[in-house]
Amino acid sequence: MDSSQFRAAAHAAIDQVIDYYENIESQRVVSAVQPGYLREIIPTTAPEQGEPWNAIQNDITEHIIPGLTHWQSPNFLAFFPANSTYPGILGELYSAAFTSANFNWLCSPAATELETIVLDWLCKLLSLPACYLSTSSSGGGGVIQGSASEAIVTVMVAARDRYLRRLAKDAKDDKEREKIIDEKRGKLVALCSDQSHSSTQKGCLIAGTKYRAIKVPRSSGNYGLTGATLRAALEAAKKDGLEPFYTTVTLGTTSTCAVDEFKEIAEVARDWPELWIHVDAAYAGAALVREEFQYLTEGMERFDSFNMNMHKWLLTNFDCSCLFVKERKHLLDALSITPSYLRNEFSERGLVTDYRDWQIPLGRRFRALKIWFVMRTYGAEGLRNHIGNCLEVGKVFENLIRGREDLFTVFTTPSFGLTVFTVNPITGDQKARNNLTKEVYEAVNADGEIFITSTIVDGTYAIRVVSGNPRIERRHLERAFEILVEKTNEIKAKGAH
Ligand code: PLP
Repeated sequence: MDSSQFRAAAHAAIDQVIDYYENIESQRVVSAVQPGYLREIIPTTAPEQGEPWNAIQNDITEHIIPGLTHWQSPNFLAFFPANSTYPGILGELYSAAFTSANFNWLCSPAATELETIVLDWLCKLLSLPACYLSTSSSGGGGVIQGSASEAIVTVMVAARDRYLRRLAKDAKDDKEREKIIDEKRGKLVALCSDQSHSSTQKGCLIAGTKYRAIKVPRSSGNYGLTGATLRAALEAAKKDGLEPFYTTVTLGTTSTCAVDEFKEIAEVARDWPELWIHVDAAYAGAALVREEFQYLTEGMERFDSFNMNMHKWLLTNFDCSCLFVKERKHLLDALSITPSYLRNEFSERGLVTDYRDWQIPLGRRFRALKIWFVMRTYGAEGLRNHIGNCLEVGKVFENLIRGREDLFTVFTTPSFGLTVFTVNPITGDQKARNNLTKEVYEAVNADGEIFITSTIVDGTYAIRVVSGNPRIERRHLERAFEILVEKTNEIKAKGAH
């Protein structure tokens, strides 16, 4: 493809993307294709001769779009959102155009320097403690990772090494050091609430440590981890001969958007100085752009790291998980390996940041561009308004559900645009409630006009409806509610419940 062909193809592609977004609402949200559909259409080998762009673009229309689940539709109310916006898309375009591996500063100074700057912007926008800024006296800073799971396993490795290093700090020589580390390594355990995302458990598989989920009781309407419960779990682990080295606490759990009790947990941190505490705010962290949520960051200076995914709810295209650490040195101690081919004068003299030491891969994309474009296009005010709109329409939905006590029961305190509820059976116990809720949930998704998800918490099967889409309006939630009522009535009319 030469420049003039690229110009024509790019114009046609942009036109198609705009049409896609403008018409997305009229599409069935969930793809209706059957497993293996594409194999029947696409040749089994790559073409021998190159093809023109219009043939490829035609296949996008004919074969790819029908197999998409439309995450950008305002009728997509499932999981947590994956926001996409035009400035975010432009960021991806330029990132592709300026492709470079960016593993150290010299690879493309702009990529590193812009990342440091926009993550400081984000740190301030979210009102995180100043220790997470790149200019902090603790040596903190932010780095863009591909996903919250990657962020978690990365800090877990730093936590593991810090813990072992400290245990062995008084060893008289290398041999004794190694002996202590070998003895203790198999006893390391990471703990978190049983409502934490599975990425912590996966992190343990990768980091080679034990994992303990702490059962959280339902307190004050939701499933947050309290300081007392964490303290008891840490003490129990110690009693069992284990070495608790790491904890994930969550701002907005996946099932119910519960928030752990950070203030109380900050007190636990005081008594367990060797414990690395990481805040997983993958989805709900975006809400911190609004002042009414910023009280949640109080005490976070006692914790070691924090991550939130701008690609979930902050208007920035996938992938863009922002990780902040209080002391970068722990990442560097654990992850820095400098073979001769990566050496350069700027890194050697300590003048620059080399983000390869803050992550698992070596190479990295220029993802800071899309954050820069999004923040400059919307401004802090636009970001706050986007979250505000999602919360407002979420409240409309919550009120509609609450208004039909005969049909629905709100399960946990709705928060961050997420309402979790069950469907009331005419008679019967929890089992009947679970069965009916599941049946309604499946019937709604089978129709495909909206897409919702379900969860099971504490033996209760519940439906989750999330309003985190940048294009969502009140009418979308009103229609979703209508569909839920219709399906519930239809199923109940059949008499099984
Ligand atoms: N943490 C929480 C609270 C989540 O809800 C999710 C996914 O929804 C994750 C972590 C994992 O996110 P990622 O896909 O970025 O690894």
